Amino acid sequence: MKTFSGIAASPGIAMGRLCIIDRQNVAVAERLVPLETVSHETERLCQAIEHTRIELEQLKTRLATANGEEHLFFIETHLMILADERLVTETTDIIRTGLINAEGALRRILHRYRETFAAMDDPYLRERICDVETVIERVLHSMSGEQSEALPQQEGQLIIAARDFSPADMLQIDRGHVLAIVTEIGGRTSHTAILARALDLPAVMGVDGITDALIDGSAVIVDGLSGTVIVDPDKETFQKLLRSKHRYEYNERELLKTAPLPAITLDGHEMHLRGNVEIPEEGASILRHGGSGVGLYRTEMLFMNRPNMPDEEEQLATYRAMQQAIAPFPLTIRTLDVGGDKLLEGMDNSETNPALGMRAIRLSLSMPDEFKTQLRAILRTTAGGPVRIMFPMISGMEEVRIAKALLEVVKRELSSTGTQFDDAVQVGIMIEIPAAVTLADLMAREVDYFSVGTNDLIQYILAIDRSNEQLSHMYQPLHPAVLRSLRRIVQAAHGAGIPACLCGEMAGDPLYLPVLLGLGFDELSMGAGSILRVKQMLRRCTMDRATRIAEGCFAFSTAAEVEQYLLSQYSLDSDERID
Ligand code: PEP
Ligand code: MG
Repeated sequence: MKTFSGIAASPGIAMGRLCIIDRQNVAVAERLVPLETVSHETERLCQAIEHTRIELEQLKTRLATANGEEHLFFIETHLMILADERLVTETTDIIRTGLINAEGALRRILHRYRETFAAMDDPYLRERICDVETVIERVLHSMSGEQSEALPQQEGQLIIAARDFSPADMLQIDRGHVLAIVTEIGGRTSHTAILARALDLPAVMGVDGITDALIDGSAVIVDGLSGTVIVDPDKETFQKLLRSKHRYEYNERELLKTAPLPAITLDGHEMHLRGNVEIPEEGASILRHGGSGVGLYRTEMLFMNRPNMPDEEEQLATYRAMQQAIAPFPLTIRTLDVGGDKLLEGMDNSETNPALGMRAIRLSLSMPDEFKTQLRAILRTTAGGPVRIMFPMISGMEEVRIAKALLEVVKRELSSTGTQFDDAVQVGIMIEIPAAVTLADLMAREVDYFSVGTNDLIQYILAIDRSNEQLSHMYQPLHPAVLRSLRRIVQAAHGAGIPACLCGEMAGDPLYLPVLLGLGFDELSMGAGSILRVKQMLRRCTMDRATRIAEGCFAFSTAAEVEQYLLSQYSLDSDERID
């Protein structure tokens, strides 16, 4: 028996026979070329890129027919990388200035990208180098005249082990035969890991040297909960892991069974429970966890770690992918919310108080052309299904009015070219600055809904940096000042006849659910993994009791007292009714 450790990338336990997929990178010899063949090398590069594009388009069509459109985002990402003209210009530069063959120049470019990505702070973005590598390998394959390899025939109950396993590979696996994935490369936030979770396949990643150390056909257990891979297990280990597997699957089945249950209280009061997402592949997970659409799509992800902003078409393609993933439910698209701790390349990072600096809607309004581009992409997305627009970090009425006026300008421009969009698209604002709470009654007359960003609102009400771990004990959602603000926001929204939503992290904690319900919130939006537990809590409450619990909170003057009171009102571990 041998045990390997790696990253627990996708939960679950699987037992099967090892199938090693050995896809070595294309061997590339760098060589000098004479000046007169430079244009020939450049042409070979362009042809290989075009050939790869056609191959990817064909793969996309094949997969859409076989597996549905749901996970095609990865291929879209690869097509986008391929379409980036810097790939051609920078590689051509190296060919021309270094007199190097196209393959060698492309390898140098890959090396350059690897260095750039490795220096990124955000682990998610750092791992996006896998996509660049996959694309460049495909182009190199194309130049070497080889067809990109399809996965070998899959039969039996297999555990696939590969040095690297691309998202496109994931999409080609036969789910009737493949039970789990083990890779040497990749981490929890790689697209492959995201897809493994979306496809409910246990995965362990970052297992150094596993493909060299093992023999095809060995008996293997993959424990995606602890991040271990056991080869040739003894009887005792096998029995132990079999019990863990049954326990895990039972618990998940029980929880997921509740996904189709309506999000209503015991006395029939409905609350929309939606998901927060950053990238389109999260959409499917929101639906699987019973979320009714997306209450917050943080679009800034698409804008970060790149020298230029995504153009209208790229934004449109990305928003549409998300829309399709959660159809027929609504998609709430928040306009760019950068600044503070989320910097774009080339952005000023010398602000003394970035949390109070040039960020979110202020930044968007300071660059109206770019803002209008985003609004155009969002409006065009409305033609494909229900979309709501949301403006972040609104601090006063001028911002609402100017943002809405720009939206009207964009609508007129689109109408004049006959472009389709939903003219009645709902426009909401995030309430996450104390000034917006104070002005909530006025603001409510100007918009279609409010969504409270408690992550920032708590930070600004209590003057506690939300990312300062030293002060985390003072970051208190149940602080009386926060609760009073929440009450005021709901009252203002309902006074104007618009819904009050909440999409900060506070929405995802079942402890707060009766309070938020009792305060009158109509909708909560949270990470996919929180939806079912919050719904469980909702289904144990009555509206009447939740209202009394929420009112009861206002009798206390500290967060600790409120928390004690809440815990005394209901036991989170039991199935007791809260009525
Ligand atoms: C919030 O501030 O609560 C929020 C949802 O937005 P973000 O976390 O993206 O700032
Ligand atoms: Mg915020």
